[in-house]
Amino acid sequence: MTAPTSDVAALAAALEGRPPGEILAAAAARHPGRIALACSFGAEDCLLVELVARHRLPVAIFTLDTGHLFPETYALWRALEARTGLAIRAAPGGPPAAAPGETPWETDADACCDARKVVPLRTALADLGAWVTGIRRDQTPERASARVLEWDARFGLEKVNPLAGWTSEQVWAELRREGVPVNPLHARGYPSIGCAPCTSPSRPGEDPRAGRWRGSAKKECGLHLTPRRPAS
Ligand code: SF4
Repeated sequence: MTAPTSDVAALAAALEGRPPGEILAAAAARHPGRIALACSFGAEDCLLVELVARHRLPVAIFTLDTGHLFPETYALWRALEARTGLAIRAAPGGPPAAAPGETPWETDADACCDARKVVPLRTALADLGAWVTGIRRDQTPERASARVLEWDARFGLEKVNPLAGWTSEQVWAELRREGVPVNPLHARGYPSIGCAPCTSPSRPGEDPRAGRWRGSAKKECGLHLTPRRPAS
């Protein structure tokens, strides 16, 4: 496990407000060969994949294939690889897709997310110095304190959030300007897309993540819980 370094906060302050591609490049230079983007194929992640390709950054890309993604998401996976020439690898370690008739997301959604997302993520991050995510501060109250670079105490490495300070409108403007493929479900009322059994469209005026685990108090899959930060 990489030890936290005291310069994380200083570097985060220096990078705050810089273009996402510049933040990505700085992180890639800081962790040569030991940095990866966790891509869940949301709009933000599509933009980050594009930026990795555009700037030719040595950032690996992986996804957490729970076996229960929408068909549109699997198609987007192939489309992004075809556009960028980059490989987006499935992180190993998760259980196989549930058998017909089994509904582990109804029995215990936290346990299902833990087995299908958190455990594979932990395996994927084990040998890295940093991981890159598409989280933005205005997505949820839980993400409001995210920095562009921070120590992730939960997984024991640095976490890079190049789009932390961006709005959804900025992300979409860039995607449209560059013609980056996105999940067609966004246009059908799904602002936030996870596994098919746990994602429903959002209604007008609802929080963008309201369609995730609708009817339950669950808001996060466990990947982006607010980390404890070392005392400075
Ligand atoms: S989002 Fe739903 S189906 Fe996917 S891992 Fe979590 S509980 Fe399971």
